[in-house]
Parts: sequence; C-alpha cells; structure tokens
Amino acid sequence: MEPAPHEGSVKEYERHLRRGEAPCNDCRNARNAYRRAREAARRGPARELKPCGTEAAYHRHLYHGETPCDDCKEAHYAPKRKNWEEP
Ligand SMILES: [Zn+2]
Ligand SMILES: [Zn+2]
Repeated sequence: MEPAPHEGSVKEYERHLRRGEAPCNDCRNARNAYRRAREAARRGPARELKPCGTEAAYHRHLYHGETPCDDCKEAHYAPKRKNWEEP
C-alpha cells in the first residue's frame, strides 16, 4: 500500500519505520536535516574567527592565498625568534 501523501518530517520518518516501510525521500531529508541541526547544536556555535595577530589568522591568510599582515607575521615568527635568541 502506498503511504498517504505527507510532508516529510521526523515524525513521519519514525512512522514509516514503525510500519516497517522504507522512509520516503521527503522524510529521509527531514530526518537528515534534523540530525545535522542536532549535531551543529552539540558542537556549539560556529567557531569565531581568530583576529589578526594570531597564529590561526596567519594560516588563514595563507589559506586564502593572501600575504599575512604584519600583525600575523609577528605572531607567527615571534615564538621562533625567541627560540633563536635562546640557544
Ligand atoms: Zn515519508
Ligand atoms: Zn592578519
């Protein structure tokens, strides 16, 4: 028997499973979206971008094909310089 037309939702997805049916595409999509949303919530808000003058920002410049700005270069090279100064 064809399932009655319905809007895909997590509820309907579970109803499919209870009836022993393969969930329809709409329900699968709804379920996937629900899981993605839950995982995103678990991971917390998107990581804030580190400001310039940090190692992370230095690599972000490189990642975007940019020349790291002075602040970022300083952040990147300062620890190394320190090592050179302290043999
Ligand atoms: Zn369905
Ligand atoms: Zn920068």
